[in-house]
Amino acid sequence: MGTESTQTLGQSLGTDFYLIDELLTEEERRIRDNVRAFCDTEVIPIINDYWERAEVPFELIPKIAALHVAGGNIQGYGCPGMSPVAAGLVEQELARADASFCIVFGATSSLAMTSIAMLGSEEQKQRWLPRMATLETMGSFGLTEPNHGSDSVALETRAHRDGNDYVLNGAKRWIGAATYADVTIIWARDDDGNVGGFLVEKGTPGFEAKAITGKVAKRASVQADITLTDVRVPVENRLAFSRSFKDTARVLSATRSGSPGRRWATLWPPMRSHSPIPRSASSLASPWSAFRSSRTSLLVCSRI
Ligand SMILES: Cc1cc2nc3c(=O)[nH]c(=O)nc-3n(C[C@H](O)[C@H](O)[C@H](O)COP(=O)(O)OP(=O)(O)OC[C@H]3O[C@@H](n4cnc5c(N)ncnc54)[C@H](O)[C@@H]3O)c2cc1C
Repeated sequence: MGTESTQTLGQSLGTDFYLIDELLTEEERRIRDNVRAFCDTEVIPIINDYWERAEVPFELIPKIAALHVAGGNIQGYGCPGMSPVAAGLVEQELARADASFCIVFGATSSLAMTSIAMLGSEEQKQRWLPRMATLETMGSFGLTEPNHGSDSVALETRAHRDGNDYVLNGAKRWIGAATYADVTIIWARDDDGNVGGFLVEKGTPGFEAKAITGKVAKRASVQADITLTDVRVPVENRLAFSRSFKDTARVLSATRSGSPGRRWATLWPPMRSHSPIPRSASSLASPWSAFRSSRTSLLVCSRI
C-alpha cells in the first residue's frame, strides 16, 4: 500500500452516526478537534515508519505537550482540568491515529499522573505533576507481574521497610515506557502485606528495564520487563495514600471512568472486550511478520 493511501485511510472521516457531537460541550468539541487535527497532520504522516521500526516517536512528545492536554481532567498543578469526557476524547483521537502513540502518551498522562493526583501527598503532587503536564517528565506504571497478569491482586513484589528506606525486590512485565520514564510507580507489597505505589526514579541502582521485542501490535511503544534487586527508595517516595490494593484499583477505575465509552480500552488491552487485538499480552509477543498485513485491518477497524 502506498504512503498516500495509507495516510488517507488513517485520517478521521469525522463521521457521527449516533449524533454524539450533540452531546458534547463546545469546549469538548474544540479539544477533540484540536487533537484530531494534530493526529492528521503530525502523527499519521510519520507513524507507520516508527511502527515498522518498533520505535517510540519521541519527536511527537513536545508537539503534543504544546496542546496542553497531558493530565486530562486533573485539576491544578499545571494540568488542563478538562472534563472526563474531553480527556477520553483526547485518547480516542490518539488511538485512532495510532494506538501505540496513545499508550505512550497515556503512560504518563493517565496512569502515572492519575496515581500521583489521587494517592500522592501535596508535596508529591507539587513535585511531579507540573513537569508531567508539560511531558518534560515521563512516567510509567508498574503493576503487572510475569506470573500474575490478569490476577494482578496476587502481586509478589515486596517493599521491605529498612530505616528511612523501602527496599524493593521482584519483577514486573509489560510495563509501558519503563525503559525511558523518569519515574516508574512500582506497586509492591509492604511488610504488612499491604500494596503501595513506590516512586522509583530513573537511574536508581537495582532497577533494570529491558524492552520486550517481537510484538505484533502497539509497535511504536515500548513495554518492558523490569527486575528490581534491592532497589532503595526513601520512605517519602511511597504514594502517601496508597495503603492497599483497593487504592491501586481506584486509580485504574478513575483512568477508565473518563471515557466516552472506551477511554481505558485505548490504554490497556485487558479492558478491550471488543478489541480486534488479542487480550493476552503473551499473544502479542509472537513473531510479528506473520501479522504484518493485519496492520491495514487494524487501521480499518479504528477508522470511524
Ligand atoms: C501493550 C501493553 C501495554 C501494557 N501496559 C502495562 C502497563 O503500563 N503497566 C502494567 O502494569 N501492565 C501493562 N500491561 C499488562 C497487561 O495489564 C496484562 O497484559 C494483562 O493484565 C493480562 O495479563 P497477561 O498478558 O499476563 O495475560 P494472562 O493473565 O496470562 O491471561 C491470558 C488469557 O487468559 C485469560 N484469563 C486469565 N485468567 C483467567 C481466569 N481466571 N478465567 C478465565 N480466563 C482467564 C485472559 O483473559 C487472557 O485472555 C500491558 C500489556 C500490553 C499488551
